[in-house]
Amino acid sequence: MQITLSFATTADGYLDDNSPRRLMISTPEDWEAVLRLRASHDAILAGAETLRRDDPALLLRDAAARELRRARGMRPDLTKVTLTHSGRLSPSMRFFTEGDADRYVFSEKELPELKGVAEVISSDGSITASAIVTELEKRGVERLLVEGGASVLRMFLAEGMADTVRRAVNPQLTLGPERGGAQFRFEVPEGAACRRENLGGMEVATCTLRPDTRDEDLRYLTQAVAEGLRCVPSRTSYCVGAVVALPDGRSFTGYTHETSPTHHAEQEAIRKALDAGAELRGAAIYSSMEPCSQRKSEPESCTQLILRHGFARVVFALYEPDRFVRCRGAQTLREAGVDVRVYPELAEGVRRANAHLGR
Ligand SMILES: [Zn+2]
Repeated sequence: MQITLSFATTADGYLDDNSPRRLMISTPEDWEAVLRLRASHDAILAGAETLRRDDPALLLRDAAARELRRARGMRPDLTKVTLTHSGRLSPSMRFFTEGDADRYVFSEKELPELKGVAEVISSDGSITASAIVTELEKRGVERLLVEGGASVLRMFLAEGMADTVRRAVNPQLTLGPERGGAQFRFEVPEGAACRRENLGGMEVATCTLRPDTRDEDLRYLTQAVAEGLRCVPSRTSYCVGAVVALPDGRSFTGYTHETSPTHHAEQEAIRKALDAGAELRGAAIYSSMEPCSQRKSEPESCTQLILRHGFARVVFALYEPDRFVRCRGAQTLREAGVDVRVYPELAEGVRRANAHLGR
């Protein structure tokens, strides 16, 4: 998933003031650009605090963008997402009442009052950005725009779950601690490239935190999916293919049960890499399907194996269906700091390799 964080602050770093009225920080030119940014995403996230404070509708105002979504068989408004610790959300908020959109609420408790207006996704523990991204990805979201507030932005940055950060600062507007509300300062990390522009007086910096690896990912992942088609189908396991790619350009392939009736594809590829004397720390592993998080035939899951060897990146095409067990591979890897990328456009080949299990 591509994740963009977008926010506007005053010159002294406030996202809002402490009055009940919504503070307009952006200039009209900047606001236009924010609306265009929304149109280039498929889901928008704002924390429950922001909903209670500003009651935003989070609609897609661009008629052409709405039409384009309809033509693709999607609902015209962006998928709306929020998260709440306290559960204090009212179904009368504009988030729920306005627009034609799918709505998801991540919550630490059950929220029966929202039945019929949103899908409530309750978490076992505290809500993480990793869990939000994983659950939204399973529901088809590919480009997420995170608009705040401060604690939500901090959570995504702390977990390394941001590809792009758009920071807009109004240099003419200062609040001071007396009038200021939530403060949020974004320090550009070392090595991040930023594009800077002035939009009607707003100083806007758009910074890339994670490089775009799409072309390379698709190349290796296509190879992994092809490996999966070499596996001999069995009633009790998926047919998966994997590729280990090292920073020095070498790569190693594997598929389910290639050398042993209990080996998974990732194990086969990792074993070949280790036999060749490879250092796996910082390497990438491509698997046609989400790495497993629990298994009966061997003591270690592929997720544990990947973490033990210190892989930096995991890329796959299809989330593991809930057929045998409920897989938590992607979320566990993300929570451990691994960069996980999913390319559902290659999932069809994985489904074909597993046609023996039925749909
Ligand atoms: Zn596995």
